[in-house]
Amino acid sequence: MSIIEFCSVDQIYHAGTSIQKKSLSAVSFNVEQGEMVAVVGATGSGKSTLVQHINGILLPYKGQVLVKGVATSEKKHRRSLWRMVGLVFQYPENQLFEDTVYKDVAFGPRNLKLPNTEVDRRVRYALKKVGLDYEFIKDESPLNLSGGQKRRVAVAGVLAIEPEILVLDEPTAGLEPRVAIDLLRHLKELQLENNTTVLIVTHNLKEVASMVDRVLVLHQAKVLFSGTPRELYSRYYNLPGSGLALPPALELMLGLEKRGKKVRTDVLTIDEA
Ligand code: ADP
Repeated sequence: MSIIEFCSVDQIYHAGTSIQKKSLSAVSFNVEQGEMVAVVGATGSGKSTLVQHINGILLPYKGQVLVKGVATSEKKHRRSLWRMVGLVFQYPENQLFEDTVYKDVAFGPRNLKLPNTEVDRRVRYALKKVGLDYEFIKDESPLNLSGGQKRRVAVAGVLAIEPEILVLDEPTAGLEPRVAIDLLRHLKELQLENNTTVLIVTHNLKEVASMVDRVLVLHQAKVLFSGTPRELYSRYYNLPGSGLALPPALELMLGLEKRGKKVRTDVLTIDEA
């Protein structure tokens, strides 16, 4: 059984009004436990809408989303769904509000009414997982941290819930490349060491192509492609006589650049047929 299953999901904002907008159209795909998946697509293609279905913030207008075989629309499973799926929104540091890093990261576990010793263990664990030194940072005010440190603290706040599925919406947006790569490396470690299922929404496939198992490409509310990064590049570039099969804006976003006779990305070089 796949850990996440989208079965012909439609989403319509403001359904039945003059401003209705179909933002997901017959979306079907599965994610296996322990996979790391990149969700890519141009702005407005439906990425954020899609990931908000995984923890039930949004429910399908049509179709079904199953997490561990249970529909997200089942009310009695809502609480377990929120514990199972950690969702890191865009610019999550905007939601840091406590006066110390410790309190911020402890907020989630305390809400779960866990004993203090367990809260403490989880804060240490989560800060370590994002590469922050517990002793050094625990009493700092989040306001005094760098942008990269704030982002890590915000991610740690979600990790402290110990979700089986971690969904991050543009986790590296606005970070320096070096800081971004380091954060992604920690997410990869989390996947490999804990068998956490990780979905990363990104504008920059190049940045994650070497670490994800699979890429889901959304285009105008539909799934255009689901497969490995290598399959993606070869599908669109290895066909004899094929031109560029992707819309130019999407190509740019996927980092598919033509250099001489090869399509070069930071991580893959695939000969054109
Ligand atoms: P992406 O994350 O790929 O940029 P979104 O999921 O945010 O795409 O948006 C998909 C489409 O749905 C866009 O056309 C967007 O304008 C529309 N949309 C997103 N959120 C809302 C909303 N709350 N109300 C109305 N339309 C929305």
